[in-house]
Amino acid sequence: MELEESSTESKKSRGLVLVITGNGKGKSTAGFGVVSRSVGHGYKAAVAQFIKGKWDCGERNLLVHHDVPFSVMATGFTWESKDKIADMAAAEKVWNEAKEYLTNPSYYVVLLDELTYMLSLKYLDTKDVLDTIRNRPVEQTVIITGRDALPELIELADTVSEIKDVKHAFQKGIIARKGIDW
Ligand code: ATP
Ligand code: MG
Repeated sequence: MELEESSTESKKSRGLVLVITGNGKGKSTAGFGVVSRSVGHGYKAAVAQFIKGKWDCGERNLLVHHDVPFSVMATGFTWESKDKIADMAAAEKVWNEAKEYLTNPSYYVVLLDELTYMLSLKYLDTKDVLDTIRNRPVEQTVIITGRDALPELIELADTVSEIKDVKHAFQKGIIARKGIDW
């Protein structure tokens, strides 16, 4: 019975929720890979990044030429940040912009890069985030990246991939490389 239901489900064509989590390298690049794939087919995509890196973002430099809007934390959360109030305000601002993508059916794909940390740190309201994703336009696919995805998010997702850290150059003291790591 359950098998029948899931095979019926698998035949439906609709937007999906993809979660790419785990400690290994490749989560954001996988998310951007899907964005590039859909843009390459002529679909509209949007990106919200819930982290401020130390460096500029190669994908952004490319995708702005394909009319992909980016919401990024101009100030606020980084892995080194200590100012929780400023981080939460920055998270809220990006989330409000992300909500515009998540309620606009013209976006075929929305990437919420590093969103998992905003939920695990309670910088955003989990119910609001999950309800917004659940109520998104039916044809829209959402990709969420980041470590430590909450069980509720895993439950909501259609496809979840966990990238395992087998080894990373950083452990040998090799620093992050332009075009490879950012
Ligand atoms: P990428 O952006 O390369 O796909 P990611 O999204 O899986 O990586 P994050 O946790 O977002 O990884 O970390 C981003 C940065 O940290 C990247 O420069 C990446 O190379 C580096 N990184 C990722 N995984 C590890 C790891 N296990 N050890 C050290 N550095 C890592
Ligand atoms: Mg990442």
